[in-house]
Amino acid sequence: MQDYDILIVGGGHGGAHAAVALRQNGFAGTIAVISDEPEIPYERPPLSKEYFSGDKDADRIRIRPAAFWADRAIDLLLGKRVIAVDPASQTATIADGDTIRYGKLIWAAGGRPRPLPFKGADAPNVLYIRTLADADRLKALADTADRIVVIGGGYIGLEAAAVLAKAGKTVILLEMLDRVLARAAGIEIARYVEDIHDRYGVEVRLGSSITALIGGSRVDQVQLDTGELIDCDLVIAGIGIIPEVGPLEAAGAAVANGVVVDAQCRTTLANIYAIGDCAAHINNFADGASIRLESVQNAVDMATVAAKDILDLGACYDAVPWFWSNQFDMKIQTVGLSAGHDSTVVRGDPDTGSFSVIYLRQGRVIALDCINCAKDYVQGKALVLARAEISPALLTDASTPLKQMILEAG
Ligand code: FAD
Repeated sequence: MQDYDILIVGGGHGGAHAAVALRQNGFAGTIAVISDEPEIPYERPPLSKEYFSGDKDADRIRIRPAAFWADRAIDLLLGKRVIAVDPASQTATIADGDTIRYGKLIWAAGGRPRPLPFKGADAPNVLYIRTLADADRLKALADTADRIVVIGGGYIGLEAAAVLAKAGKTVILLEMLDRVLARAAGIEIARYVEDIHDRYGVEVRLGSSITALIGGSRVDQVQLDTGELIDCDLVIAGIGIIPEVGPLEAAGAAVANGVVVDAQCRTTLANIYAIGDCAAHINNFADGASIRLESVQNAVDMATVAAKDILDLGACYDAVPWFWSNQFDMKIQTVGLSAGHDSTVVRGDPDTGSFSVIYLRQGRVIALDCINCAKDYVQGKALVLARAEISPALLTDASTPLKQMILEAG
């Protein structure tokens, strides 16, 4: 039986960075990262952006160069899926029947795409974007497709739509709600993004409720509740993820929309941590609510906290959330969490293509969405951290830098 001091399940952003952080903080014991993907760790965000468009190849999206892992004595056990964890014997069972003993286990298994709840959802021309293999399959099919239906107006769907529209495809984006980015951004940003997609030729259809995928071995049409049939060569679905928590839940871990962890990323099971997309944690930037964040920032920062806790270096997860998205000529950068805001301030002129929306709750800054406005994004972080109370009139004044406001707010 193999035996590791630290076994990390998942070789995505969280898992890879946990291994890196352990070594960076001086851990000299044995480490393995086990992943059901056959790839050395890579960055997921480019899959719907630069990798999908062909601007970056696979070598340019590796989290670390291939040699890094062997140089740091981090074993990568690739193409192996953990199917069970036994906290009592401190073992993990792999799908091929092998068992690995661990001292501490870090569960960084992310999530899998939520499948469309219709017959035909597994047809070969219905695709999701989560892995490099998904993106490769999608690129190959998109090359020969003319009409592409994108289901879901979240960031992944919008990014894919942007790449495809730029490549000259006919793109119809179907969103069930009456706006895009409902989970991620305020209404001003949503309307602006819808408008930009419209200008570049994406047909954004809000309030579109799908009732069926129509076809034989392939899906040829998407049916709406109005009875309308939309022809398509390819369907891309981006309707969220289901956190990968099965083996931990079966082992008795507390699970509530993700594995429940404390501020040190410890699960309720002894010697087992959970980080990244699959971890439900109390987040002070969400007003103390228990949430899961799906972002590189969250995965990397949680990885550092778990590594430091294992090494008794004292760490507590309280990082300010940040996120980005690229669509057409928009670079959207977010700091803080806007959910729960009760007012907004638009700073700058959206017609110039560079502006920010500042979200307030009870007069305090809780988040910013900045479009082509890196300065506000960088300087706004301090306002979010301080939950600064600044008058909307001052925030609107784009001639006063945000960093000056934080000084004046004390
Ligand atoms: P993942 O990166 O998903 O890694 C989990 C790994 O564990 C996977 O390799 C999985 O196959 C493996 N695994 C799962 N179960 C098992 C098991 N039982 N045994 C072994 N291995 C297992 N975030 C941003 O901040 N900005 C962006 O612009 C952005 N764009 C994105 C675009 C796309 C297309 C996608 C898919 C995500 C994007 N994200 C973005 C989100 C970001 O990539 C995730 O939040 C991040 O990857 C989470 O890291 P993680 O380690 O928790 O999970």
